[in-house]
Amino acid sequence: MNILPWHQAEFERLLADKARLPHANLLHGRQGIGKAAFARTFAQTLLCESPVPSGAACGQCAACHWFEAGTHPDFRQIEPESLAETPTEEQGSDKKASQQITIEQIRVLPDFIGISSHRGGPKVILIHPAEALNISAANALLKSLEEPPAHTYFLLVSHRPHSLLPTIKSRCQQLVLQGPAPAAAAAWLKSQGMANPELALAQTGNSPLIALQLDNEEYWRQRNTLLKGIASADFDALALAEQVRDYPIPQVVSWLQKWSYDLISQKFLGTIRYNPDHNAALAAAAAQVDALPALRFHRELVQLQRIVNHPLNPRLFIEQMLISYAGLLVQPQRAAA
Ligand SMILES: [Zn+2]
Repeated sequence: MNILPWHQAEFERLLADKARLPHANLLHGRQGIGKAAFARTFAQTLLCESPVPSGAACGQCAACHWFEAGTHPDFRQIEPESLAETPTEEQGSDKKASQQITIEQIRVLPDFIGISSHRGGPKVILIHPAEALNISAANALLKSLEEPPAHTYFLLVSHRPHSLLPTIKSRCQQLVLQGPAPAAAAAWLKSQGMANPELALAQTGNSPLIALQLDNEEYWRQRNTLLKGIASADFDALALAEQVRDYPIPQVVSWLQKWSYDLISQKFLGTIRYNPDHNAALAAAAAQVDALPALRFHRELVQLQRIVNHPLNPRLFIEQMLISYAGLLVQPQRAAA
């Protein structure tokens, strides 16, 4: 992927400063705006052996070919197993790919840094997302960050920089990448072939790369079934739980979380952020719930996000969430005769 239009100016600024690049760099900004693509493209410009006059990579030299094929000997990209392009799924095994960057992945760095460069140029290590470093991996990384040999560059990418070790952050030059304005994000998604990007952008809090992944019918079909179910006049938590039992649990939690956020926002501010296509239903539901229990429900969902990949009993998990939600709804007052 190339540099996204909203990052072009920042990219050119960085290229112009390439000769003064510090050895440790932290790129951070909202999730889903193209930070990893930015970091990869910049890594390629560092490794390219005949950059164009602007400093960008040529795309033609041997180094560029290796980089694009994922085989450049002086480049390492470190990410959680779950993000690797070819997940190593053992057949018939339930073993989930790790969401963390582990110490084994970091332990190999001193060897990589210690040997001389294969191409006689710089070495580049891209770590994405840096918040996936578990605590022992982060501590091991600190040693490598401290005093790397000349022409060794670290590019850390993060959408949760507050959760990084302060000692890691303090060793890095920080670069904030901004997301696009909604109109620019929508224009880009249209250029990628997405017909009606506005709702997908609303769903993702204006994160175009995440919105792009929502370009599939199944996602919208499942979401609508769930939302119509909870908004229906004869909402029945157990029946709906049965209907959505095979939906991805993290997705169900996320939809309910966005719904409850909108409920609270509608109640206090009269605005809706994530589900503009369910305006009327949200307004009706907001009139039926009390603020405090709604806030409590929302907070519970945020906490559930942490264990959402490993529920002991998925069916029960969904049932409990929907029963909690049903508990928020006060019976509409019957019109007085
Ligand atoms: Zn090149």
